[in-house]
Amino acid sequence: MTGEEQPQTTVPPVRSVPVPVQLAPGADWRIEWCEACKAFTRLAGSMLLLTTSGVSTVGAWAWCEICDDPADQEDRRV
Ligand SMILES: [Zn+2]
Repeated sequence: MTGEEQPQTTVPPVRSVPVPVQLAPGADWRIEWCEACKAFTRLAGSMLLLTTSGVSTVGAWAWCEICDDPADQEDRRV
């Protein structure tokens, strides 16, 4: 025992890193016709899944600024 033992290799600390995955709306969104509102108030596009291995389209999203906004519906009683 010399007291000068040194690690032979540098071992990085092992961590369980969660895979960074992120959902993001695609850049191909567009304004669509909403049947309920009878207006072009609907936004639609593709939903992208961003991972370390790349980007993949996992679905589509759609959102109407009138139908899908409950607060707006409450206020707009005429
Ligand atoms: Zn609508």
